[in-house]
Amino acid sequence: MGFNVGSSLLDPSLTVSVFALHSKLMDVRGFWHLGLGNVPTDTKMSQIEVSAMKSPLTPLATLIGRELRGEKVEKPYLKYGQAGLAKKGEDYFLIKTDCQRIHSDPSTSFSVFAIFDGHNGISAAIFTKENLLANVLSAIPQGTSRDEWLQALPRALVAGFVKTDIEFQQKGETSGTTVTFVVIDDWTVTVASVGDSRCILDTQGGVVSLLTVDHRLEENEEERERVTASGGEVGRLNIFGGNEVGPLRCWPGGLCLSRSIGDTDVGEYIVPIPHVKQVKLSNAGGRLIIASDGIWDALSSDMAAKSCRGLPAELAAKLVVKEALRSRGLKDDTTCVVVDIIPSGHTVLPPPPIKKPNMLASLIFGKKNQNSMNKTNKLSAIGVVEELFEEGSAMLDERLGKDSPLNANSGIFRCAVCQVDQPQVEGLSVNSAPFFSPASKPWEGPFLCAKCQNKKDAMEGKRLTRPTVVL
Ligand SMILES: [Zn+2]
Repeated sequence: MGFNVGSSLLDPSLTVSVFALHSKLMDVRGFWHLGLGNVPTDTKMSQIEVSAMKSPLTPLATLIGRELRGEKVEKPYLKYGQAGLAKKGEDYFLIKTDCQRIHSDPSTSFSVFAIFDGHNGISAAIFTKENLLANVLSAIPQGTSRDEWLQALPRALVAGFVKTDIEFQQKGETSGTTVTFVVIDDWTVTVASVGDSRCILDTQGGVVSLLTVDHRLEENEEERERVTASGGEVGRLNIFGGNEVGPLRCWPGGLCLSRSIGDTDVGEYIVPIPHVKQVKLSNAGGRLIIASDGIWDALSSDMAAKSCRGLPAELAAKLVVKEALRSRGLKDDTTCVVVDIIPSGHTVLPPPPIKKPNMLASLIFGKKNQNSMNKTNKLSAIGVVEELFEEGSAMLDERLGKDSPLNANSGIFRCAVCQVDQPQVEGLSVNSAPFFSPASKPWEGPFLCAKCQNKKDAMEGKRLTRPTVVL
């Protein structure tokens, strides 16, 4: 390695981060060492047990060295905790740590953590909790390698969200829900979200980043323009004498979110197409805090992360909820899930070695652009996270890609959203013109069945009918 050790000694942060990650320094910094024991990812939450001061078994410098040498790094452990207080009883969460990419193959395990903050009732939140994961997985081709599976995941999340929304609409109920849906496979974290339940990442560099985007009309001008262009009206609530109060809402319906699952009575321009972000943590690990807006209306991302740093996940979740209540009182349903991604050989997350960016780590974990839509983000700047994918467009044809997984010669096509096989004449390609003739040129995927094409047109305001409930 060709970095300059001599000059770096003048820079305490660089020195500490690379060469002096032993336990003594960490203890001087005053971190708590709380042991939970080595619990595999698929066990239940363990009892909190405060152990004696104990140094991490593998220093960060060793882990970085392993990565540089291309050595195989063992799978991380997950430890997690959940806490919440109900005001209306419309928050739901999902914790599933026994998923497998290949059935009966434990080496292909992954975990899912999600929060569903319902409104106007609970049916959309419950329906989504029960069906979304299966709908996402059904959109990933079988027999793929791990890397292919992770690459297919962002698109499958879009398909799964839209399919779940269509299925819920068919129930004829009017409630809606936010969704923040987190898939963790080893060091790779993929987050898909609609609405305003956030997921933040507290990296081992000590920098807190948002992995979701708030789909609130009040705060998102791009979404306001999209909703208006698709036929929605955006404005505030009018009370006596025309005084406007509260946040910007979409009318009819009065919803302040621009994306959700459900909300059949509000309008199709309230779309279920998620913002998706995929990152790969360094093998120093990190902490995710997933929570409903009851937390985020009271605490900033930094405040939430700092309020529980150094504590085990179960206690951390309780502390974040307590901190939110202390500053704001119980005004809304408040739910928090904390997930620690911990390097094998450690009992807790290694404490952050430094507070400010360091050049060496940036060189090691350089940013990989897989997507031209990648937004500027400080995550890669601090060098502890590799950004793999980010896309938030509400246009389905920008999200489903062009390659079709099925053989065009068969004459049978699988809908890219609902995964139903149909002869090609019954559907339209996302990329085709309205009068596209299959005979004139090769079929350009992805194919949508008539029902999903109808949904796509409605979401884009091309069917300006009143919202209807299909029974
Ligand atoms: Zn379909």
